[in-house]
Amino acid sequence: MQFSSLPQTLSLDHPWLVAAAAGKIPHAQLLVGSEGSAAFALAVAYAQRLLCSSPLGTDSCGQCASCVQVQHFTHPDIHFSFPFARKEKMSKDVDCDTLLREWLAFALTNTYPLLFDWMIAQGVENKQLSIPVYESRRIVRKLSMKSYSGGKKIAILWMPEKFNEAAANKLLKTIEEPEGDAVLLLITHDEEALLSTLRSRCQRLFIPPVPRDTLTDFLKNKGIPHDIAMLASMNAGGSPGVALQLCENPEILKENTASFALCLRAAYRRSLPDMFAWSDAHSSWVRERQKSFFLFALETLRDGLAQKHQLPHGDPFSLSGVSFSFPGFAQLLTPPVLVSMAELFESALRDIQRNANSKIVLFDTCLALSNALHSTR
Ligand SMILES: [Zn+2]
Repeated sequence: MQFSSLPQTLSLDHPWLVAAAAGKIPHAQLLVGSEGSAAFALAVAYAQRLLCSSPLGTDSCGQCASCVQVQHFTHPDIHFSFPFARKEKMSKDVDCDTLLREWLAFALTNTYPLLFDWMIAQGVENKQLSIPVYESRRIVRKLSMKSYSGGKKIAILWMPEKFNEAAANKLLKTIEEPEGDAVLLLITHDEEALLSTLRSRCQRLFIPPVPRDTLTDFLKNKGIPHDIAMLASMNAGGSPGVALQLCENPEILKENTASFALCLRAAYRRSLPDMFAWSDAHSSWVRERQKSFFLFALETLRDGLAQKHQLPHGDPFSLSGVSFSFPGFAQLLTPPVLVSMAELFESALRDIQRNANSKIVLFDTCLALSNALHSTR
């Protein structure tokens, strides 16, 4: 896959790509991005550029034999590593080779992978996934062999935060001094959970979220209708993987919009029973679902501010057919009130990501929202 085919988060003249085109390639790199972000796709596009036989500036050609192999996830010099769960009949020393066929089929259709989707693909929804020490041994072994094409050998390690300590330790020497012409690309969605011994040995690159308009265009180019594409990008926090998953489940988009309307009404009326009922109903949602809701609420409030400043903005309520006049509602609020509301949802999102008790977070947010709505600012 070429950089130019991805929803743009890094421009083609980004220093990371310019340095790679000039042959300045750190042998261990850590790409940090949210789950479903462009980080994994960028790592594959980077590998494709490094192996391309006729590159075009900072991008690969997309047509040479090597590019075609990378695009089909069949290039013999790219080695993938990923978390997995050991099933009952598997031997104790199982590594990623055992699941490689399933993984490659998954990666081919999930360029912006989400962990839960990979768990479903493996049929292990209720198990903890990890990367064991046998897998580290496999990576070390693969990278110590001669490359097939005479060029670089590249290891793409998805979610190295799932390495246990023994597995990480086994990899340290290879990360510091890989044999031959090897490059390791580690893609983390949770940098805090990554063992510091791994993190400190890699050159770090933050992959920013995809801007909302760019994400909407990306979805529309995939044939997704305009209204759903707009709503999905408002709910996805700049993550193409999350946005694509939402487009497959558009009922979630409507539910998020309807829930936000209920929350605003309960807070505006200062109705404690309604606030209790609202937080109770939504506390049973899974964390990812709650995160999506808070991201959506934040985007909607940002649109309220954009409306105040006569900037382009969307109206998710009319897009999803939910009866609530957000433009009229936002008209009643001053910019400082909208900002303080957004801060409340930002704080709630952080709490949910840190596994706080969701019922308390939801109720506290609704109550604080009520106070913010009735403040005299
Ligand atoms: Zn090429």
